[in-house]
Amino acid sequence: MSEIKYAVELTPPDIEPYRAGNTAIDYVTSFTAAEPGPHVLVMALTHGNEICGAIALDKLFRAGVRPRRGKLTLSFNNVAAYREFDARYPIASRYIDEDFNRLWSPAMLDGTRQSAELRRARALRPMVDAADYLLDIHSMQHATAPLMLAGLLPRSRELARKIGIPELIMCDAGHAAGPRMRDYGGFGDPASPKTALLIESGQHWERRAAEVATDVMLRFLIALEIVTHDDVAALGGPDFDAHPRQRTIEVTEAVTITGEGFEFVENFRGLEVLPEKGSLIGRDATREVRTPYENCVLIMPSRRLVRGQTAVRLGRYID
Ligand SMILES: [Zn+2]
Repeated sequence: MSEIKYAVELTPPDIEPYRAGNTAIDYVTSFTAAEPGPHVLVMALTHGNEICGAIALDKLFRAGVRPRRGKLTLSFNNVAAYREFDARYPIASRYIDEDFNRLWSPAMLDGTRQSAELRRARALRPMVDAADYLLDIHSMQHATAPLMLAGLLPRSRELARKIGIPELIMCDAGHAAGPRMRDYGGFGDPASPKTALLIESGQHWERRAAEVATDVMLRFLIALEIVTHDDVAALGGPDFDAHPRQRTIEVTEAVTITGEGFEFVENFRGLEVLPEKGSLIGRDATREVRTPYENCVLIMPSRRLVRGQTAVRLGRYID
């Protein structure tokens, strides 16, 4: 599979002004309204090279946006990795030691293992525990349409519909490599009211990803009545007032890499629909991976084809 080079169109913002914050956790700031309401958490830089979220939060800070009710917390997560960001090697700064977004189980967080990401996850955990709603802002390796990752719970899917963008909502379980923050604790519990969404805003470094991240964040805050449409209209981009027909992709399985030398048979970028059941997608030394049904959608094929990691997820349109 040949490398596709993407231009770095985004400039990582200076987040040092937000280091001190006001929560005793570095790079985490909370604003509390007089009127009671939910605690809403917006997080950026869960992956250090996904700078669109940092741009969206920076905009919100600069505009002085405050919640009309409840509590709004803004967090820059993997700051250590973000500091390593270098536009010449933009892929390198996803994390320092390990993926911050594969650590979110009590067993892992309560355990004794140490890493830069576990330290940060442990520091942020009280905030994630305290939040009623979470939006975790990400971007993707390939330039495909933005995806709202709503998980398996109906309440998350309803919130994604209420936000109204992007067009594609994905209902997915996590990765074999470890649980995501979005599925941690009450966020993944059918009996809890806590609701989390993860937005994949577009390709990591395209201008469009920052626009999508910003518009989704603003519409998330409007949907939860933390701000009004008019409060934040000046910050909105091309999708701020858009009303696309939303479609849902149900993810049926993740292809986890089990052998050495896994390769895709084509240069897939994601959202390809393979009409025939049994189409060959990729192979390693010992097995071939084929589509399990007709009209199979390929979701976020990875460029890091390492054993134990997800190579691609497979799904189908359900509406
Ligand atoms: Zn990410």
